[in-house]
Order: sequence, then structure tokens, then C-alpha cells
Amino acid sequence: MREDGDNSSGHKYGPESTQRKNMIKQVDRTVGYLRQRIRESGLESNLNLIITSDHGMETVVKTDEIYLRNVTNFAFKDLDFELLDYGPSGLLVPKEGKLEQVYSALKNAHPKLHVYKKEEFPKRFHYANHSRITPLVLYSDPGYVQFNKGEHGFDNQAMNMKTIFRAVGPAFKKGLEVEPFESVNVYALLCELLGITPEPHDGSLEVTKPMAQQGLCTSHGTLSFPAPDQHWHRPGHGLG
Ligand SMILES: [Zn+2]
Repeated sequence: MREDGDNSSGHKYGPESTQRKNMIKQVDRTVGYLRQRIRESGLESNLNLIITSDHGMETVVKTDEIYLRNVTNFAFKDLDFELLDYGPSGLLVPKEGKLEQVYSALKNAHPKLHVYKKEEFPKRFHYANHSRITPLVLYSDPGYVQFNKGEHGFDNQAMNMKTIFRAVGPAFKKGLEVEPFESVNVYALLCELLGITPEPHDGSLEVTKPMAQQGLCTSHGTLSFPAPDQHWHRPGHGLG
């Protein structure tokens, strides 16, 4: 199930708005109803429920904004392609022979703007290691983006980009709180629970293993599914 109301209200009104808070209450009621129906249907002992999201949300600031068109020595005509209007990151393909020029023009253009050649982009973003990522990658500090009142896609170490993770069901230990972990590890967990062989990904099953009940084995022989149990935890490293 995907509930997108808090994402869209967060973009439109900002994460601290009354509209977003009301939307969170609505999501909370839906989760309550879901758990109630799981109980009433006698599914608690064989259904695992995970509640998480793909990112947090940051309030956008409207001061000291970043305008590339005002940057000295930078010209859009030096680019073959630009993607600059979706959130706080930017993708640029400089024209043949213009990479160094565009890079050095933007590199120190604004204290809140970070400019990287693809191969130098920080590994912890899990972002630049793909053929579709452009030779120059830009991102801004939390809050710096022009279009919405709330935004995500900032540095995944920023506190407001972090999200929640709750899990309850027979596969999980009860009442356990674990250390923060990166959301890239959730996919491997879901695949394991569903008995699906994962496609290549950046995560690891090792990270979520401490949450698993010991005992029975899954189709892949690592996690286990005995008596109903609960697990609650609060990761700090959700990806933006
Ligand atoms: Zn969004």
C-alpha cells in the first residue's frame, strides 16, 4: 500500500504546516484501522506489517536563493542537457570539451550549492554509480530549492531527510529498538520476507538481521518466522 497524501501536502504547504499535520493524523488513523482489521481477521500470527516511508521533508527557505543564470562564467549554452527543476539536485551534461569550464564556474558559485563530477560524488548518496547519471551532479544544502514549500532529496545525513521504520509480525522480535540504518537495506528485507530473489541493489540483509525472530527458516534460509511478535525501531538514516 502506498499513501501519498503526506508527501503532496508536505510539498505544497511545507512539513510544519497544519495541512501536513492533519494528513499525518489521517495516515495514523489508516494504520490503526489496518492493524485492527488484521487482528479481527486472525492474521496477526502470519502477517508481517512494515510501516516506513522513502524520505523525510525539509522546509524550503526563500532567502539567499541559488540562481545558476547569475553565476559568473556559467552559460546554459555550454550545456547539452540540464535537469534543474525537480527538487534540490541537478543533472548537467556539458557540451563536448566544456566539462572543466562548467565545473569550475559552478564549483564555488554559492556556499549552499555542491557541485561534483560524477566519479567524485559522495558514495553515501548511493546515487552516481549508474550509466544514466550525468557527468556533473549538483545538490544544495537542506532547504535550498526554488519550487515547493517542502522538499526532499537533500543530503541523506540531514536529520529532516530521515524517516521512520516500524515492523510488527511473526518475523520480527518484539519491543526491540535498533540502531539507525539506511533505507537501501529495506528492499533486501522485503524480498527475504516474500521469498523473492532480489535484483542487484545497494543494501544488505545483514543490517536488518538483528530484528528477525530466530527459529524457522524462510525459502532463503536466513530469516525466521515463529510466534507472533513485535518490533519497533527508529532508524536515522533514511535516504532523502
Ligand atoms: Zn515528494
